[in-house]
Amino acid sequence: MTVEDRSEAAPASDVVRCVNVDRRYGTAGAVVTAVREVTCCVPPAARIALTGRSGSGKSTLLHLIAGLDTPSRGTVSWPALGVDRRGRPNCVGVVFQGPSLLDDLNVTENILLPMLFAGKSTTDANRRARVALSDVDIADLADRLPAELSSGQAQRAAIARAVAMQPALILADEPTGRLDRHTGERVIAALLAAADIAGAALVIATHDDAVAARLPTQWSMRDGRLDPTR
Ligand code: ADP
Ligand code: MG
Repeated sequence: MTVEDRSEAAPASDVVRCVNVDRRYGTAGAVVTAVREVTCCVPPAARIALTGRSGSGKSTLLHLIAGLDTPSRGTVSWPALGVDRRGRPNCVGVVFQGPSLLDDLNVTENILLPMLFAGKSTTDANRRARVALSDVDIADLADRLPAELSSGQAQRAAIARAVAMQPALILADEPTGRLDRHTGERVIAALLAAADIAGAALVIATHDDAVAARLPTQWSMRDGRLDPTR
């Protein structure tokens, strides 16, 4: 490709696009609209804090963006990942709000599982797991069971699992919610470093202003609505 060709190349596609998205829970008479009329784009180099009070719709929107949930109205698409890439572990890494490691598997096995589901060879998956553990500073915990980890260690293991595949999109839901400030800061630094290493877009849902301030872009949610301009 020549220099001229590169200068005229189309800008990289968004990793995620949401258009007029609603997500309603419940049935007639008892409907909760958790996300309403959300239109937003996550570009490839995004570092976004999704802020808002508890119940404002952050987790619901994150799950929609992850492809783990389906909108009641509107569309979610993943232009940079290909049309058929919804929820695939090799494209999207998710760090869930609650404990999510499988109790009967050790840390390494937890990290290997999604990679093996995605078709990686055992050798490649083991190599990636070792790198991911070392990137979040818990290489020494590789053989521990989840019950043998502190909250901060478990959260870092969950991050290693989400980023080992070097996905194009990393989503973390209140990753510091159960941690003290110092451990929380290390977890956010680990997520930012993992996104840099993978060249991934990163969205972190948080109600903690100090965490949000670590990211260059803030999207605030209120009653299910998003104001990405704030
Ligand atoms: P946040 O992550 O900002 O705390 P959520 O996305 O978890 O907010 O929730 C948004 C709203 O949707 C809340 O009113 C919550 O009670 C409701 N909600 C979330 N999940 C469900 C569900 N599975 N069934 C019914 N209501 C739900
Ligand atoms: Mg939540």
